[in-house]
Amino acid sequence: MLKLYNTPERKIIDFKPAGNEVKIYTCGPTVYSEAHIGNLTAYIYWDLLVRTLKANEYKVERVLNLTDVGHLVSDGDEGEDKLEKGARREGKDVWEVAEAYIEKFKQDYAALGLTEPEVWARATDYIDEDIEAVDAMTANGYTYETEDGVYFDTSKYEKYADFAKLDLSGLQAGARVGFSDEKRNVSDFAVWKFIKPGEKHAMRWDYLGKPGYPGWHLECCSIIHKELGEPIDIHTGGIDHIPVHHTNEIAECYGAYGTDLARCWLHCDFITIEGEKISKSLGNTYSLNDLAERGFSAMDYKMWVLSGHYQGTRNFTFESLEAAKTRRFNWRNKVVMAYQDETIGQDENGVMDKILEALNNNLNSAEAFAIIDNSEISYENWRKIDKLFGLDLGVNDIHLSEEISELLRERDGAREKKDWVRSDELRNELAKRGIGVLDFPDYTIWQHLK
Ligand code: AMP
Ligand code: ZN
Repeated sequence: MLKLYNTPERKIIDFKPAGNEVKIYTCGPTVYSEAHIGNLTAYIYWDLLVRTLKANEYKVERVLNLTDVGHLVSDGDEGEDKLEKGARREGKDVWEVAEAYIEKFKQDYAALGLTEPEVWARATDYIDEDIEAVDAMTANGYTYETEDGVYFDTSKYEKYADFAKLDLSGLQAGARVGFSDEKRNVSDFAVWKFIKPGEKHAMRWDYLGKPGYPGWHLECCSIIHKELGEPIDIHTGGIDHIPVHHTNEIAECYGAYGTDLARCWLHCDFITIEGEKISKSLGNTYSLNDLAERGFSAMDYKMWVLSGHYQGTRNFTFESLEAAKTRRFNWRNKVVMAYQDETIGQDENGVMDKILEALNNNLNSAEAFAIIDNSEISYENWRKIDKLFGLDLGVNDIHLSEEISELLRERDGAREKKDWVRSDELRNELAKRGIGVLDFPDYTIWQHLK
């Protein structure tokens, strides 16, 4: 039985999907700059979620969105659109910026070996659905219009504060003096923004006779409505999404369709880097390319992420990344050892069951990894482990090139003849090709050297 921590209930629940298929939605990146390693953690954890569900023999239908419009630089309704900001920075138009960073994100996604969602949903492909949703909210009495846009009246949705356990009266009291616009309540938010005459905003659509664009949260509500149908089984995101973004998605869905958006909500915590927040000013916004320049692959980073828990505040250090890299290297060598020695792991005791049990315990990959470290595992089970985590442990490309096989055969021959000089020469030749040898009295096993 899979157990997951459900944010609105603030506790671990027994997870059961509504139907045969588990419907999942993941809030994706705003495609205005390159993802840093902190941004990428979420997709690694949610990949583990998908793989765990599949290991439990569930079918999964998953949608991941790409925010290419309407997410302002603050979580509120003030400030610049992130895509406009990216375009200004790079001297390109917003469409080019979105295109380039979607491409980059998909490259990172592939390098991390993450399971492709069934649907990649780009926000600007759902503008008609956005407008239908706003019309529905308005028809149901949840919105009001200001000079600035169409706003959601949060006082009309009595459960608005519940999801994030918000203190609305405190928020109201703490609102800035001169809190200027025509908002009725401090927590009200724009579902649709109007573009003022002279305002620069390249992405624009006509609605209510004026040019405008959707507010950030709306796309998730519209995409879920169109692609999956609410309420979905699991909605995922970062903990920063709880008080504003997800709270507002829920309100919009209720306002438009009178239903809950999701049955279970999972949120992952933030990582720090060498004890610091990730920020441009500290120069620690490392991308996967930055890690590659220091000799770490995307998979090494994935190994680091999965060594901890999605709800923990993790501190990334290059020392701990080095440890993750070594651990993965050791696992790859255990794979080739088990491949060559069928006796390895023959009497292992239900190791796969133990690993799945750990994952079913609210995705405890750290515990699953400890079980792997402490077990003798057969080649057959390494294949299953690699499928379960997607760590590219080399279970499939284990077959050596003809050249290396020939060198190994030649060396076996030299050892039989007790020609130790030739045998050492061949060991060096193999080492140059990244292959090491472990000699036993009657046989030799090869290993990766790096
Ligand atoms: P940003 O582009 O910085 O607004 O980040 C986009 C999303 O990535 C945020 O909404 C978070 O959910 C996630 N994120 C940002 N920084 C981190 C971090 N240090 N650790 C984990 N997730 C992060
Ligand atoms: Zn969202």
